[in-house]
Amino acid sequence: MIPRKFEYYRAKSVKDAIDFLSTHEGAKVIAGGQSLVPLMKLRIVSPTYLVDIGRIEELRYIRVGDKGELRIGALTTHAEIEESELIRERWPVLAETAEKIADVQIRSRGTIGGSLCHADPAADYPPTLIVLGSEVVVRGKEGKRIVPVEDFILGPFTTNIEENEILEEVVIPPYNGKAGFTKFARREGDLAVVNAAALLKADNGKVEDIRVAVGGVGPKPVRLEALEDKVKGGVIEEDKLSSAIDEAVKELEPPTDVHGTSEYRREVTKVVLKRLILDLYRR
Ligand SMILES: Cc1cc2nc3c(=O)[nH]c(=O)nc-3n(C[C@H](O)[C@H](O)[C@H](O)COP(=O)(O)OP(=O)(O)OC[C@H]3O[C@@H](n4cnc5c(N)ncnc54)[C@H](O)[C@@H]3O)c2cc1C
Repeated sequence: MIPRKFEYYRAKSVKDAIDFLSTHEGAKVIAGGQSLVPLMKLRIVSPTYLVDIGRIEELRYIRVGDKGELRIGALTTHAEIEESELIRERWPVLAETAEKIADVQIRSRGTIGGSLCHADPAADYPPTLIVLGSEVVVRGKEGKRIVPVEDFILGPFTTNIEENEILEEVVIPPYNGKAGFTKFARREGDLAVVNAAALLKADNGKVEDIRVAVGGVGPKPVRLEALEDKVKGGVIEEDKLSSAIDEAVKELEPPTDVHGTSEYRREVTKVVLKRLILDLYRR
């Protein structure tokens, strides 16, 4: 289908984009266009103005900040994250996550900021960013706000961002321990039926800390804190882990859709979580 008529504006800077968004009702940001354009073609979204931020170079970078944190500009593409030597070396789980997103075309155009603002419940970055304790920097007329990724995503396709704000940056603390991401999809390149990430620190077989998050199994990605509490402080035994996972999965409310029933998603989640945690523990 063809989108409804709209006016196009190419923003010259973040400030210019915010000024335009603040003074034009019905204006919407476009970054890589990989999620927004399909929605416009289906006429699910019909902005009056399209504010193109795609050429704002100040939003395209990957660097390490003063406290050793990774700072990624919102316009950085999935492919740039996948290929970054810095990320592969020091935040490898993020590169592993990016390389599982869609196909090479979408990874070359789609951006980390666009993915987070689109807030598809099955998107791949959120579980990984959540277990790493990441935050986003959002800028509007009144200045900047820093929001944990966990609180930024409110529900399906809904985030904690105002219509006249821009997501500028994703900030990811350094981590030690082992982190992993896994995705179960019906076909290579599809959105996940279930995805999950975990960060595990163990000493002599004893789990000192663990964080686990899942996506695709509810309105938004969630951290499984009750599961973490059961695993923390001891050695991992397979049968005990299975029952802790079963308990955690009972609390989830996965949707039924064309990709599978709620019950199917629950079963897949159990398998995905068990494999992920055991793999990290034994690695
Ligand atoms: C066929 C297909 C398969 C896909 N498979 C996967 C997959 O396996 N895993 C996965 O995680 N994703 C998948 N995606 C989504 C893909 O990753 C998109 O690239 C991403 O979700 C959006 O990034 P974008 O830069 O293209 O955003 P756009 O489409 O330009 O924008 C998306 C939304 O975010 C807003 N926005 C964008 N940037 C900003 C910003 N900086 N500040 C404020 N608002 C902003 C826009 O207004 C819009 O509402 C898939 C998409 C398609 C079409």
